[in-house]
Amino acid sequence: MALTSPPTKFVAGNWKMNGLASALREATAVSEALKATPVQSRVALFPPAPLIWRMAQALADGPVEIGAQDSHREDCGAYTGDVSAEMLHDAGARLVILGHSERRTLHRESDQLIAGKVLGALRAGLEPIICVGEQREQRRMGHANRVVRDQLEGSLPDALTGQPFSIAYEPIWAIGSGETPSVADIEDTHATIQEALSAIFGGGAATPILYGGSVKPENAAEILQIAGVDGVLVGGASLAADTFLPIIRAAG
Ligand code: PEP
Repeated sequence: MALTSPPTKFVAGNWKMNGLASALREATAVSEALKATPVQSRVALFPPAPLIWRMAQALADGPVEIGAQDSHREDCGAYTGDVSAEMLHDAGARLVILGHSERRTLHRESDQLIAGKVLGALRAGLEPIICVGEQREQRRMGHANRVVRDQLEGSLPDALTGQPFSIAYEPIWAIGSGETPSVADIEDTHATIQEALSAIFGGGAATPILYGGSVKPENAAEILQIAGVDGVLVGGASLAADTFLPIIRAAG
C-alpha cells in the first residue's frame, strides 16, 4: 500500500544549545505574527530544555507547539544530568527530536539507543521527530540512501505503528554549512525514506518527512516544493523571528 502525504507542511525550529530567557521574545514574536496572520502549516519550536517551561507558558494558547531536542530512554533513575521524556512532557513539551546527527556523532548515539529513546518518548506522550542522514563521503560514494535506510530500520521500534511521528532527513554535511543537496537528491532520498517506512510499517500512514540542513529564507520555498518534502527542520534560521517567519510563510 502506498503511503499518503500529509495535507499540510510541518515547520520545526531547532534552537540547539542556544537561547537564554531573553530569547523568548523571538518565540513570542513568531507566535504573535502567526496569530495575526495565520498559516495552514504546523509550526513547532525546540528550545534548550531549561527554556521549555517558560516558552510553554509564554506561548500558551498560541499556534506554535513546543518540543525538546532529546530525551532519555528511561522514565527516571540514576542518570545524573539526563532528562526523561516524562519530565519534558511535565515541563510543557509535546514533541521531541531524537537521533539528531549532533547526538549521533558527539554523543555516539546508536540506532539501538535511539529506538529505546523513541519508546521512552511514546510512553510519556511525546511525539518524536526521528533524524537520519548521511555523511558527505557516504553521499559521494553513492551510499546515502542505504545509510538512511539502515538508520530507519535500526531506529524505529515496532511500537511506532499507528503513532504520530515524523522523520527528518538531515544530511550531516548540510547542517550549518550553507550547503544543501540538489533538488534531485532531496527528492530521491525522501522517496527512499517513504519506501522504507512503507516496508517497515506496511504503508497507509501519512508520516511527514521533513528536510533539514541549511534551510534559510532564501531557499525555503524551493525546498518546500520538492516532491516528498512535507516540511523542514530548521536550525540557525529558527533562532530569530526575522528569519524563521519567512520560512514558515513559504510553507504556507
Ligand atoms: C539542524 O540543527 O537540525 C539544522 C538543520 O541546522 P541548520 O538549519 O542550521 O543547518
